[in-house]
Amino acid sequence: MKITSTDVLLVVDIQNDFCPGGALAVADGDAVIEPIHRAAQFFQHIILTQDWHTPDHNSFSSAHPGKRPFEQIELDYGTQTLWPDHCVQGTRGADFHPALQLTRAELILRKGFRRAIDSYSAFFENDRTTATGLAGYLRERGLNRIFLAGLAYDYCVAYSALDARGLGMPVVILRDACRAIDLNGSVAECERQFAAEGVEQMNTADLSA
Ligand SMILES: [Zn+2]
Repeated sequence: MKITSTDVLLVVDIQNDFCPGGALAVADGDAVIEPIHRAAQFFQHIILTQDWHTPDHNSFSSAHPGKRPFEQIELDYGTQTLWPDHCVQGTRGADFHPALQLTRAELILRKGFRRAIDSYSAFFENDRTTATGLAGYLRERGLNRIFLAGLAYDYCVAYSALDARGLGMPVVILRDACRAIDLNGSVAECERQFAAEGVEQMNTADLSA
């Protein structure tokens, strides 16, 4: 597929805490960096997202006495999976993985910075109504088609892809440049939604200038 000047590569959460050795490590998570670099050479526009939580964030099991990581609870905005403390603002775990070399990225979008609301998607927080501002940014810059890569395939990548489709944008997930958590059948569920909503998937080898 030919990449054009109105395409954008959205690189999701390549942070130490999501990579091997991190607080919420995705298996083989750092293996996405090489294909992301391969894909990046074709794009004029690159955006990075960074999970960016307060120390007492509501999505942490540690904020809910008696609860453990990966349990689910009901918050006022709906069901929330509880995670180990991760990507706390200003910590090494929240830093981008040191092997990621995308210094020409034009925007770093931080998400999940409100203590009371988690944000998987780069477009809308988990209450599904609070906007991050990314849709307006893309619109004002005339960037229309989104290519997604990063961590984790079945959470932040998937939610971002589905929200972008909901906003009417063409979306392609670069499958070899993602890795999944796969919790409670999350991969099968997101792929069912990708098929229903028209989220395309391809590999970085399918891209061309
Ligand atoms: Zn998070």
